[in-house]
Amino acid sequence: MNDGDLSVSYDVLVIGAGSGGLSTATSAANYGAKVAIVESNYLGGTCVNRGCIPKKLMIQAADFVEQQTVARSFCWSNVEGSFDWAAFKSTMHQHLDDLRQSQQESLQDAGVDIVRGTAQFIDGYQVQVGDQILDAEHTVIAVGGSPTVPDIPGSEFALTSKDMFHLPQLPQHIGIVGGGYIGIEFSHIFARLGVKVTLIDTSQQVLSGFDDSLRTIAHAGLERLGVTFIPQKTCSEIVADGSQRVMTLSSKDEDDEAQTVSTDMVLMAVGRSPNLEALNLEKAGVDLKDGNIAVDDYGQTSQPSIYAVGDCIGRLPLTPAAIAEGEAVAKTICCKQPTATDYRWIPSAVFGVPPLATVGWSEAEAKQQLGDDLETYEQRFVPLHHSLMQNAQNALIKWLACQSTGQIVGVHAAGNEAPDMIQGLIPALQKGLTLAELKLVSGIHPTSGEELFVVPKE
Ligand SMILES: Cc1cc2nc3c(=O)[nH]c(=O)nc-3n(C[C@H](O)[C@H](O)[C@H](O)COP(=O)(O)OP(=O)(O)OC[C@H]3O[C@@H](n4cnc5c(N)ncnc54)[C@H](O)[C@@H]3O)c2cc1C
Repeated sequence: MNDGDLSVSYDVLVIGAGSGGLSTATSAANYGAKVAIVESNYLGGTCVNRGCIPKKLMIQAADFVEQQTVARSFCWSNVEGSFDWAAFKSTMHQHLDDLRQSQQESLQDAGVDIVRGTAQFIDGYQVQVGDQILDAEHTVIAVGGSPTVPDIPGSEFALTSKDMFHLPQLPQHIGIVGGGYIGIEFSHIFARLGVKVTLIDTSQQVLSGFDDSLRTIAHAGLERLGVTFIPQKTCSEIVADGSQRVMTLSSKDEDDEAQTVSTDMVLMAVGRSPNLEALNLEKAGVDLKDGNIAVDDYGQTSQPSIYAVGDCIGRLPLTPAAIAEGEAVAKTICCKQPTATDYRWIPSAVFGVPPLATVGWSEAEAKQQLGDDLETYEQRFVPLHHSLMQNAQNALIKWLACQSTGQIVGVHAAGNEAPDMIQGLIPALQKGLTLAELKLVSGIHPTSGEELFVVPKE
């Protein structure tokens, strides 16, 4: 920067230091580009500060309650303990601080300039942050999203997922609106920690979009946890009555009588929308589609100098997708090699009871694609870990394959080890693993993982 001149020029300017922005910035810097990243809040974005990581730590904390039951089944006594939410919260936030610090060091090691503040476009090549003007040949928007709160009377009494990591104390009874993966995971956390949970969803079954076998298992898990599930309803009003939050639940069917549920906390987990307000996208000539930033297969927007990645493009709102999109866009820009993100084998998990993991098509999608050429195979078993317990929950592995080629098109699993088991399969699935090849594999005995290879050997 010259004295008196507040403008700085970059090859690549990234807006937002969450999963997508960090991956774009470090990849572009590794390709030799001069890169800056602008962040208005904490480094790490949703995943590190108010998403995947703190949520998984809370799930780990809640899972010790299950471990007590398992320990009793192995004839341990005096396994009860008590949980200190305040102490846990402080330990968790210290860990998040350490993660942010290591992300800052990674950016610095890669030679990326970190600019603190809110970015807004002046035009397609210039961005303003405070009183600084940043010029960039290419800008990558990676601003993520925020939880949506429906515009209903009393919406100010609703909390969202980001508040769950800062609660002064645990509630006694929480009403969770929305049975997607975030609603299910918080149901698991709170129910395990002794909070009464009422879960409300507009559908008959939770986890819409997931394979039906996993959805059924999720329901059994909610029942085991003692969660009250109210289907086909949504919250249309919240009234504060002292410390109570009285929710009115109504359905699409006008003949259905509205119902009220009194809790002491309401969590809205009904979806997320992109953080676009501050950006001034009109000045940059960036178009939207269905409320998200419109991009082509290579992440390029309607303004050729500007790309976008992560939750703000509304494709697959998961950390591995944002990372893959960031790497692809960095390669497209820096190596002049148009590179599209391959979403086909991006896996995901729902850390409920039991954990669920999924990759590829659901059975409904596979039927649509393959019709009668679909072969399905399900393996149910009780993991050794749970084998001494009364009423142990079955684990599941479900394979979907194309009958004529044998190629596997989807795998869905439930059980404590399910996410790690699915994870290990991804390279083989990417290379077109067939059922016949799977039959040739030996598993480690005795593990849950070996069940992956117990396909019928006709
Ligand atoms: C409760 C919860 C649990 C989740 N669990 C999982 C999980 O287990 N696994 C998984 O894969 N995904 C999970 N996700 C989703 C995952 O967190 C997101 O898909 C991922 O973080 C998206 O990354 P991103 O880079 O697009 O956006 P973000 O991580 O949201 O980053 C965007 C960044 O941009 C900044 N920003 C916004 N506007 C501006 C501006 N104008 N100027 C400067 N900076 C700006 C924001 O402050 C933010 O830091 C979870 C999400 C939630 C909410």
